Amino acid sequence: MGYSKKAENITPSITLGITTKAKELSDAGVDVVSFGVGEPDFNTPKHIIEAAIKAMEEGKTKYTPTPGILELRKAICNKFKVDNDLSYTPEQIVVSTGAKQCLANAFMAILNPGDEVLVSSPYWVSYPELIKLADGIPVIVETDRESNYKFNLELLDKYVTNKTKAIIINSPNNPTGTVYSKKELEVIAKFAEDKGLIIISDEIYEKLIYGKEKHVSIASISEDSYKRTIVINGLSKAYAMTGWRLGYVAADKKISKLMASIQSHISSNANSITQYAAVAALNGPEDDQKNMVLEFEKRRNYMLERISKMKDISCIEPSGAFYVMMNIEKFFGRSINGKVINGSVEFSDLLLDQEKVAVVPGAGFGADSYVRLSYATSMDIIKKGLDRIEKFIEKIKK
Ligand code: PMP
Ligand code: GLU
Repeated sequence: MGYSKKAENITPSITLGITTKAKELSDAGVDVVSFGVGEPDFNTPKHIIEAAIKAMEEGKTKYTPTPGILELRKAICNKFKVDNDLSYTPEQIVVSTGAKQCLANAFMAILNPGDEVLVSSPYWVSYPELIKLADGIPVIVETDRESNYKFNLELLDKYVTNKTKAIIINSPNNPTGTVYSKKELEVIAKFAEDKGLIIISDEIYEKLIYGKEKHVSIASISEDSYKRTIVINGLSKAYAMTGWRLGYVAADKKISKLMASIQSHISSNANSITQYAAVAALNGPEDDQKNMVLEFEKRRNYMLERISKMKDISCIEPSGAFYVMMNIEKFFGRSINGKVINGSVEFSDLLLDQEKVAVVPGAGFGADSYVRLSYATSMDIIKKGLDRIEKFIEKIKK
């Protein structure tokens, strides 16, 4: 009996896998510290929950138009105008079951077999797999300290071919936390224009930015970039709504129509109750969100300070999102309890086994020299986890 080659060629999500593993251990009574999944530990703001309850009580529990209720698409257009100075009409918006589905729709709408998509590494785990599922080829562009872990013209020129169809920009980035400046985006927008590429801009961490950095959407760089960009965003991170599953996309009308058509067969509309809650989220007060960002910033600063004091460890300083990429390269070839560490997977497995701390191996992000720690967890847990990591690395022998 044969199975789909495409399905067998897909690696399950490592971020979700680690989280499940940590949860299972915790349910079994093990005192696990999880730096695994990237999801805010805050509860969804009360006014959003109340809007969902009201929607249910009012019977808003039926199918809605596939791309989403008009009220929500209008609220999304308003958000783009206010936050990003971008003008969209509701026909350009498609609401989906999480930004993940938006990305899947986008790749399916634009790719033909063999089309290449430029992805910078370290990358978020799902990009290559979603591209493969849509019959495309992910082309991994390795970035480093020198390029500030971002695309630049030199790198793009090196990897572009006549099969390149699209480029993914993820700013703020998961997992590095890097943020593109307007100037850097201008260079990429011009490159995309010259080569005729579609830009997929994943802006899900837009609201989670620290210090002086500012979020700029590449769609707002020029009239041309507006037309060629598919903007992806969602409520998971900005409003602590991961489980509600709501993402949205803004694009050229033709692409939006294709995405809605695909979705009409795969899942129909995003959850109706969530859509009404999303209207309340986008139109409502942002105080909870501001407090959440302040708290993330405190945790980020604390983590960076602690990691800077750890022997043989360095990290990429994040300006946004809620992850720290910790470089563990110096431990490769060394051992703990007779077990040699040769890569990020072994490091993570041993850390979980010995000290009960869950981190995500960088291998899943195309960056085996790193492990990713999420600081979307309480300060007490962060302290406890970092104490354990310190203890762990002290035990590693040369
Ligand atoms: N893009 C990035 C970069 C992410 O980290 C996530 C996290 N899950 C998503 C998209 C998808 O978000 P969701 O499906 O929860 O809206
Ligand atoms: N995006 C989050 C992460 O990277 C959530 C898990 C996922 O969807 O992959 O941890």
